[in-house]
Amino acid sequence: MDPNHEILFEPVRIGPKTLRNRFYQVPHCSGFGTEKPWTQAAHRGVKAEGGWAAVCTEYAPFSPGSDEAPLVAARFWDEDDMRALRLMTERAHEHGALAGIELHHSGAHAANDQTRWPGLGPSQIASDLAPHVVPKAMEPADIRRVQEEWVAAAQRARDCGFDIVYVYGAHSYLPMQFLSGFYNKRTDGYGGSLENRARFWLETLEQVREVVGDDCAVVTRIAVDALGPAGIHVGEALAFVRLADDLVDLWDVNVGSIAYWSKDSGTSRYFPEGYQFEWTGRVREATAKPIVGVARMTDPDLMASTVRSGILDLIGGARPSIADPFLPQKIAEGRTDEIRECTGSNVCIMKVDGHGHLGCIQNATAGEEHRRGWHPERFDRAANADRAVLVVGAGPAGMECAVTLGKRGFDAVHLVEASSEIGGRMRWVRRLPTLGDWGRIVDWRRIQLDKLANVAVVTGSRLTAGTVREYGARIVVLATGSHWSGDGLQASTHEPIDGADPTAPHVMTPEQVALDGKRPPGRRVLVYDAEGYYVGSGIAELLADEGFETHLVTTFEVVSPISDLTLEGPMLRQHLHERGVIAHRGVTLERVGSQVVSGVDEFEEPFLLEADGIVLVTQQVSDDALYHELMADPTALDVAGIEAVFRIGDCVAPRMISEAIFDGHRLAREIDGPHPAYPMPYDRERGIPHAG
Ligand code: ADP
Repeated sequence: MDPNHEILFEPVRIGPKTLRNRFYQVPHCSGFGTEKPWTQAAHRGVKAEGGWAAVCTEYAPFSPGSDEAPLVAARFWDEDDMRALRLMTERAHEHGALAGIELHHSGAHAANDQTRWPGLGPSQIASDLAPHVVPKAMEPADIRRVQEEWVAAAQRARDCGFDIVYVYGAHSYLPMQFLSGFYNKRTDGYGGSLENRARFWLETLEQVREVVGDDCAVVTRIAVDALGPAGIHVGEALAFVRLADDLVDLWDVNVGSIAYWSKDSGTSRYFPEGYQFEWTGRVREATAKPIVGVARMTDPDLMASTVRSGILDLIGGARPSIADPFLPQKIAEGRTDEIRECTGSNVCIMKVDGHGHLGCIQNATAGEEHRRGWHPERFDRAANADRAVLVVGAGPAGMECAVTLGKRGFDAVHLVEASSEIGGRMRWVRRLPTLGDWGRIVDWRRIQLDKLANVAVVTGSRLTAGTVREYGARIVVLATGSHWSGDGLQASTHEPIDGADPTAPHVMTPEQVALDGKRPPGRRVLVYDAEGYYVGSGIAELLADEGFETHLVTTFEVVSPISDLTLEGPMLRQHLHERGVIAHRGVTLERVGSQVVSGVDEFEEPFLLEADGIVLVTQQVSDDALYHELMADPTALDVAGIEAVFRIGDCVAPRMISEAIFDGHRLAREIDGPHPAYPMPYDRERGIPHAG
C-alpha cells in the first residue's frame, strides 16, 4: 500500500460500534429493497467483501404513510421485511462490515399511491417534488405517531442485525421539512424559530437513541445546503449540527434536495470529483463527531487529503462503490490503477428509477451478483479456454469481452481493431464537451488489456471475411459496432429524410463532425436530435463552442429527455442556453435542402429553418455486414476450423454503452454454456414468502 493511503485504513469508532476502516457505502437506491432480498444481500455483501467498512440499505420507509411504490425501497414495516433484510445484515457481517439502515419518511412528498394514506407534512403545501401531492398538516398526534413508528422501526432494525440506524433527513424528507421554512409554516412549538423547527428532528433522534443507542450507532443524514429553496443553507445547517450533536454518533452530510437531486448525485458532466466539499467541508466547524460525505470520490490521494484536512472522517461512496465494490481492497493492496472508476454518468440512477433494477455502465456485474451469479473480481476458467478466440472491434463491447475472456483463462485472445486506437465510439464521445470522464470506460479496459498476458491487442487492422477465416481462431466474436444513419432514418416516420445525403457538404453525421472534423459550409448549423440522449446535445454544444450559430431541433418536447433519467437534463439545458444554442422542440424534419430544412411541428403546422448545414442524430444502424458475410459460407468456416461465430454490442442492435459492455461481458461469462449466443435465464426473485 502507498503509505500516503494508510490513513484510510484506520478504524473509526461511531458510538457503540467500530468501523474497520474509513470506507463507508452510504445509502443508495438499488431497486432491490425488500422485494429482492437475495439480490440486495448479494449486492451489499460483495462490497463488504471488497473492503467497505459499512454497507447501508437504500431509503427504508417504515410506515404505510410513506409509500414509495411503484419505486422499490427497503420497506421496513414488519417481520416479513425483517426476514428479507436479515439476509443483508448476515452477509455484511460475514465479510466484517457493519450494516446500516436508512430509516425514512417522505412526509409531504409521499404520494402513497398504493397504501392510499394521505401524505403528511409540517404544513399543507403542495410537494415541490410531486405537486399533485398536498399533504395533511401534521397534528401533534400525527407527530407522536410518526416518532413512535420511527422508534419501533429502529428496534426492529437492531433485532434484524443492523449496526447503524439512520434518522434520515436529507433530500428534503420529513425531518428536513420540519427544519426548513420552505416547508414549515407552523405557528406552534414545531415552527418559527430554528429551535422550534429543529424540534421534530431532535425529539426523534432522542427517542431513537433512547431505545437503540447502546446497541447501534445513531446516524443522521442532512443536506447542509439545499442549493435551492427546498431546505436550508449552510449557516442554519451548522446551527442545527450544534443543537443535535450530542444525539448523533455520525454525521452523514450532503447537498441538494430530492427535487434538486441532480446537485447531490452530481454527474461528471457538470460537477468535478470533490465538488460537495464547498458546503459539506464546513460541518467540521460545528462538530468533533465523525463525518461521512460523498463527492464521487475514486482518487485515493484526494480521499487521504480529505481525511487529513479534517473535512471528512469517512469516505462515503455510493456510485464509486457500484462501479468498483473492491475499491478499498485495491487501495489496500496498492493496486490503485485497477480501480474501476465511476464515470459519473448516472446510468445507475437511470437503471434504478427508470428500469427498476440497478446496473452500472462500468461494472457489468452490478445488480447481477445474485441473479446471474457474477462476481466482479472472480472468474472461473472456461471449459473451452483452450480455443483461440478472435474478437473483432475494440469498442466497449469488444474491449469488455476480451478482458473477461482473458480473466476466464483463455489461452489466447486477440482483440483486433480497424482504427489506430481502441475505444470504438468512445474515441469521439469522450471528446465531446463535458464528456471527458466517460473516457474512464476505455482507460480501465486498456489497463486490464495491458496486464492480461493471454490477450493481444492489434490496432490499425481492418479484418475482412477472408482475413477472419485465415486468422487461426476457433471462436470468432464480432463487435464491429454501428454508425449513425446518414439518411435521417428516424423513429417518427420510419423513413429516411428526403434530401439527406451525408456525402453532400451540408449534411453531416455525428462521427463526421466529432471524428473526421467535417463542418458546415456556413456559420448557421442545425443539429437534428431524434434520439434524445447525449449525442445531439453534445454535438450542438461542440459547434456552439466553435462559434457556429447553432439550432437544436428535436422531436421531443424537451431537449434531451433521456438525460433527465440520469439527472443531467436541467444542467444540460442550462449549459446549452448559456452557449446560445437555440432550441426548437416537438419538430419532425421531412426535407433537407442545401439552405433550408423543413418539416412539421407537434400540431402538424409547417416548420422551416434556414441553415447552412445539418447534423443528423436520428438513429444508429448496426455494422453487421462482416457477420452476414461469414455466416453466408458455413463451409468456409468449417474449412477454417472456426467452430462458432458470435455477435455482441451495437453490431447486434445499437444500444447504450452500458448495454454494449453488458453484452460483451455476458458472452464471455457464458461462452462455455449451452447456447452462448443467447443469454442464460437468470433467477427472478419473488421476495420472501409471507410468514403467516
Ligand atoms: P460497441 O459499442 O458495440 O462496442 P463501437 O461502434 O463502439 O461498438 O465499436 C466498434 C469498433 O469495431 C470500432 O472501433 C470499429 O473501428 C471496429 N471495427 C468495425 N469493423 C471492423 C473490422 N472489420 N475489423 C476491425 N475492427 C472493426
